[in-house]
Amino acid sequence: MLNGDAEMLDIPAMLKINLDRVREKIQLALQTSPDPRRVVTLVAVSKKQPLERIRALAELGQVHFGENYVQEGLEKIKSIEITELKWHFIGKLQSNKAKYIPGQFCLVHSMDSLKLARALQKKASSLNIVQPVLIQVNAAGEAQKSGLDPGDLAGFVREVSGMEHLDVQGLMLMPPMVEDSEKSRPYFAQLREMRDSTEKKTGISLPHLSMGMSQDYVQAVEEGATLVRVGSLLLGPRPGCAVNFAGR
Ligand SMILES: *Cc1c(COP(=O)(O)O)cnc(C)c1O
Repeated sequence: MLNGDAEMLDIPAMLKINLDRVREKIQLALQTSPDPRRVVTLVAVSKKQPLERIRALAELGQVHFGENYVQEGLEKIKSIEITELKWHFIGKLQSNKAKYIPGQFCLVHSMDSLKLARALQKKASSLNIVQPVLIQVNAAGEAQKSGLDPGDLAGFVREVSGMEHLDVQGLMLMPPMVEDSEKSRPYFAQLREMRDSTEKKTGISLPHLSMGMSQDYVQAVEEGATLVRVGSLLLGPRPGCAVNFAGR
C-alpha cells in the first residue's frame, strides 16, 4: 500500500509489492471457491491515477486496466501507447457517449439499459466488430445506483443476445458500500445465483462475473468472480480522494 513506511520505497517497488500480494491472495481465494481451476482476471482500476504510475504497473506485467470516464479513458489509451494493454470500461456510460467505446475497450462491464445496448450495437456494427459486454445488475435494488433490475435480466439477456455486434459474456455488480467486506459476500453469491438461473432460463451462456474491488476482491473470488476490479490497493489512493471509495 502506498502509505506509511511504504513511502520510503520508490513507486515501482511499491507497485510490485502490491501486485504480488493481490495476485497471491487471488490464487489463495481461488482454492476455496466453486471452480478453483477457472482463470480470474485482475483488472487494475486506473481512474484518476497518474500516467507514470500506470506505465510502471504495466511494466511489471499488468495487462488489464479499467477506466470509468470516457474522455479520461480515451486520453490514457492514446498517451500510454503500450499496445499489449487491454482496457476495460467499468463506469457509468451514457448512451450518447457509447460511440466512443467499441474498438477502444475490450470489455464494457457496465451495460445497463436497452438504449445503451442499441447505441453500442450501432457503433460496433459501423466498425464491423463484435463488442464484448457485461450486464451491470442492481442486485441490492438501491434506488440511486445504476444497474438493471434483476427481474428484467432474462428478458434483457435474450434481447441483447440477438444483437449481432454485441457479445454478452456475463454480469457485473457493485454492492452497497459497507465497512465490513464480509457484508459484500451475500451480494456476490446472489449475482452468481442470478447468473446460473438466467443461463437456465435463456439457454445463453454467461461465463463471466465481474465483482469485487480493493476492499472485497477476496470474498468475490471465493464466490465465483472471474474478473476483479482493484484500484487503490494496487495503484495507491487516488489523488484528491480523501478515502478510497470516493470515486465510486
Ligand atoms: C473505482 C472503481 C473500482 C475500484 O475501486 P477501489 O476501491 O479503488 O479498488 C472498481 N469498480 C468500479 C466500478 C469503480 O468505479
